[in-house]
Amino acid sequence: MSPQPLYKRVLLKASGEALMGSQGFGIDVAVADRVASDIAEARAMGVDVGVVVGGGNIFRGVAVASKGGDRVTGDHMGMLGTVINALALATSLRKLNVDTVVLSAISMPEICESFSQRQALHHMAQGRVVIFAGGTGNPFFTTDSAAALRAAEIGAEAIFKGTQVDGIYSADPKKDPTATRFETLTHGEVLEKGLAVMDVAAVALARENSIPIIVFSIHEKGGFAQILTGGGRKTIVADN
Ligand code: UDP
Repeated sequence: MSPQPLYKRVLLKASGEALMGSQGFGIDVAVADRVASDIAEARAMGVDVGVVVGGGNIFRGVAVASKGGDRVTGDHMGMLGTVINALALATSLRKLNVDTVVLSAISMPEICESFSQRQALHHMAQGRVVIFAGGTGNPFFTTDSAAALRAAEIGAEAIFKGTQVDGIYSADPKKDPTATRFETLTHGEVLEKGLAVMDVAAVALARENSIPIIVFSIHEKGGFAQILTGGGRKTIVADN
C-alpha cells in the first residue's frame, strides 16, 4: 500500500523564484509544469491544496522604493506579478487535468475570480486546487503573509513553504559549508533567531493560529508528496 498523507488540507507557498528556472527572471514553463505535477500528485492522494504564489520573479515593490519610486505603486506591480504566476501555474495544472481555480485578492473579473473565504471553501469542497493570487491585496505585505492568512482562512493544517533548499539552516548553506539544518523549531525560535524563512508577520500569524510551517525544497520532483506522507528532508516549525 502506498504511504498515506498525514494532512487533509494544506497551503503550499511557492515563491516566484520557484517558477523561474535558471534564467533569473520570469516564468520557465517547464519548471511551472514540474511544480504542477507535484501538486497533482498531492491532489491524487486526496489532499486539499491551496496555493499562494509569489511574484518576486516578476517584480518587487521594494526595488522601486529603493530607486526613489513610489512603494505603494511598486507593490501594486508586485501583486499583479503574482497574478501572472498564478495564471501560469493554473495553466500547467489544467494541462494535467487538475481542476483548478484562481482567486485574486484584487478584483479583475475578466481574468479570474475574486477571493472570498466562502468561494475558496466552496471550490476546495469541490476538489479543486485553489490558487490564491494578488497576495493579501495590500501594499507593504508579502506573499508569505498572504500564505499565513489564507492558511488560517481555509483551515489548513500546515503551511508548506517550498524554498530553494531543503529546510531552515543555521546559516546560508550555499555560502557556509558548516551550516546545519534544523529538524524542528518553534515559531518563537524562528522569530528570536531571526531565521530568514518567512517574514515576521507571516510567522506571527501562523503562531497565533497554531499552524505549523514545513520548509522543504520545491525543486525535488515528488518532494511535496514525500513530505506530505511524513518523509523527505525538511524543517518543521511548530509549537507543542
Ligand atoms: N506584494 C504586496 N502585498 C502582498 C503580497 C505581495 O504588496 O500582500 C508585492 C510586494 O511588492 C512584493 C511583491 O508583491 O515584493 C512580490 O511578492 P513576494 O515578494 O512575496 O514574492 P516572492 O518572494 O514569494 O516571489
